[in-house]
Amino acid sequence: MMTEKTVHAKKQFGQNFLIGDAIPSRIASESGIDEHTGVIEIGPGLGILTNQLASRAGKVVAVEIDRELIPVLRERFALNENVQIVEGDIMKTDLRQIISEEFPGLRVAVVANLPYYITSPVIWKLVEGRYGFSSITVMVQKEVAERLSSKPGSSEYGAMTVSLSYYAEIRKLFNVSAGNFRPRPKVDSAVIQLIPHATPPVFVRDEGMLFDCIRASFSMRRKSLSNGLSSGLQISKSDAAAAIAACGFEEKVRGEDLSLSDFARLSNELLVIRNPSDE
Ligand code: SAM
Repeated sequence: MMTEKTVHAKKQFGQNFLIGDAIPSRIASESGIDEHTGVIEIGPGLGILTNQLASRAGKVVAVEIDRELIPVLRERFALNENVQIVEGDIMKTDLRQIISEEFPGLRVAVVANLPYYITSPVIWKLVEGRYGFSSITVMVQKEVAERLSSKPGSSEYGAMTVSLSYYAEIRKLFNVSAGNFRPRPKVDSAVIQLIPHATPPVFVRDEGMLFDCIRASFSMRRKSLSNGLSSGLQISKSDAAAAIAACGFEEKVRGEDLSLSDFARLSNELLVIRNPSDE
């Protein structure tokens, strides 16, 4: 049987295993979990973070795609009654079922050292599903962490940052250098935390329009907002300009300058311009 010592990291699963207990322990402690928390861990790997989570949480359900690691993990946690190892792809896992069956009476958090090849789809699944997680604490590439925690006007600020902020408050916790992993990745990493909003922080008439509007506004970086909106939403330039003016923004404003609440106002105005009878 495969053991912890004989496992070879698989590139296709984004396997870069943490070495040493210092970083896993810091992730677990900054995730804010306790005995009243059920934790979903994505990609336990060899179980180094799982171990830290299990000593703090009420229960840990760890979902691992690599079937060769399943017996290694089950053996490692055979005596931990509060750890359950699930073989599966997190993108196909029914999280609602795990939450209702495994964590009754517990608040639920997600903690993971994410496989980087699916960072964005995983984060989207976690927030869009509105699962009521108390927190989502994940390790991602440092560059992604900086992008997701950036503010309007900065060069890293983009469509994903502002769209995600509709679902959650995002902050960067700490950096983790490449030397903390085996095999050593080419880039540094960072741990970020998302605290999902119980209710959206801004009022929008139509969420689809908000996200279309954000996407269109960032689709032509360095071009004016009216150009981006007009080509991205297939509306006339004068309608785009009218919505921008109705919000009181300067004519030359760019998507990079707008906050989530600015985008909410803009998308509400665009809806009125598109469907004047709704006003
Ligand atoms: N948590 C371990 C650690 O910190 O050392 C491993 C982290 S490693 C960066 C990512 C882990 O996610 C690997 O164990 C990999 O096999 C697993 N993984 C990759 N894709 C997955 C998926 N779609 N669903 C569940 N686990 C996945």
